[in-house]
Amino acid sequence: MAYIEFLGAAGTVTGSKHLINTSTDGDGRNGAQVLVDCGLFQGQKEWRERNWQDLPINAAQIDAVILTHAHLDHCGWLPRLVKQGFRGPIFATPATIDLCGIILPDSGHLQEEDAAYHNKKQSSKHDPALPLYTEAEALACQPYFKPVNIGETTQAAAGISFQFVRAAHILGSAMAEVTLGVNGMQRMLVFTGDIGRLRDTTIAPGKVVHSGPAEPGAPDLLVMESTYGNRTHPTDDPRPQLAQLIRQTVERGGSVIIPAFAVERTQKLLFMLKQLMEDGQVPRVPVHVDSPMAIGAVQVFMKHTEEFGEDTKAMVQRWGSPLTWQGFNFDSTAEQSKKVNDLKYPFIIVSSSGMVTGGRIQHHLIHRLPDPRNLVIFIGFQAPGTRGALIKGGAKTVRFFAEDVPVRAQIAALEQFSDHADTPELLTWLKTFPKPPSVTYLVHGEPAAAQQLQQAITDALKWKVEIAQWQQKVQLT
Ligand SMILES: [Zn+2]
Repeated sequence: MAYIEFLGAAGTVTGSKHLINTSTDGDGRNGAQVLVDCGLFQGQKEWRERNWQDLPINAAQIDAVILTHAHLDHCGWLPRLVKQGFRGPIFATPATIDLCGIILPDSGHLQEEDAAYHNKKQSSKHDPALPLYTEAEALACQPYFKPVNIGETTQAAAGISFQFVRAAHILGSAMAEVTLGVNGMQRMLVFTGDIGRLRDTTIAPGKVVHSGPAEPGAPDLLVMESTYGNRTHPTDDPRPQLAQLIRQTVERGGSVIIPAFAVERTQKLLFMLKQLMEDGQVPRVPVHVDSPMAIGAVQVFMKHTEEFGEDTKAMVQRWGSPLTWQGFNFDSTAEQSKKVNDLKYPFIIVSSSGMVTGGRIQHHLIHRLPDPRNLVIFIGFQAPGTRGALIKGGAKTVRFFAEDVPVRAQIAALEQFSDHADTPELLTWLKTFPKPPSVTYLVHGEPAAAQQLQQAITDALKWKVEIAQWQQKVQLT
């Protein structure tokens, strides 16, 4: 009676949650229930409202969580799960655990700030507006994390064991290869989480983590992401374009605002900026990394050298820690952040969140978007419905805290920074499988991307491919 139930990232790219259930009563009392990922829904209101719904099962009856990586759309609902009574282990790689240690409390803090802001402005239909979880509640889930290294077989619950294999997506990211033994039958399931790009120097220049996802075992069932199921990334080096964009902006007296995920993506960008400045490609204007977790994020990044690609090892050896670089400022406190608003000369701000769904980047954009001298560069995926997607898509105004802000700044996007494999890379990876899975379920993609990837896999490999539906149950035995 074992089954998988898709509780998120079905029909959208956020809210990843996949339940493995081997119980016959549906409530985990006579079997095991393991959740793979426990992500936050982001983007359109329709999705975000799902964060407030309870799971169809009792959180206290879930035995364990296997976490693929530390992006909020994979880990951001964990504090809510613990708040609802979950008390089992959360298995993750050591780097993922360190990242969650700064990302989840920050997420709780931002939700408290937003709720307080709405209450002050009375701009929410809820009275009072409440945070989904607080910073303290996010800290309370920390003791449940249990480190599991890549390639280490671990028992998650009765009849369910797993090992992590490298996903090469972000620092600490892994796929979960789950072995299920129920009723005398064995099934291998692979949950990809997010899949990184294949190469680091030619196809994805500047990629910081390990090169390319690991070759998997032979799963009976594959649950695979499809974020870029309808895309081919540019393969050229982004550095010349980045340098040109910054030079032009500085020449006209403008500043550069870069929304970026605070961990890893920001560090990757910083190393690139440092190199371009040292080579004289970019003027030495001040760089402000404005995030409450800025310093912690650099420390986590520098600690996990086992995750670095060859390029990154060389850059770290050459330049040392970004915390020591002249002209690079790490604004941890709110006072430091506010001072950035008073700066008049050209400078570069790197701030989160990467999709402009919250955080200090909002305030920088409110101040800088109306001025045509400024430049906003997107270097990450923008989920539909997020402010990032609206601005990138050419919106003339964008709403922040119930106020419309005109968009007059130059807007640019560099797709080379993507940490997701594109369609040709996904197909190349699938071709390394020793045999086709009996069925592949596509998750974590907008409908058009998932459909196109379904077609591409069917055409190229003749595999059976389905698109996962929200709350769909797939029988395993
Ligand atoms: Zn991710």
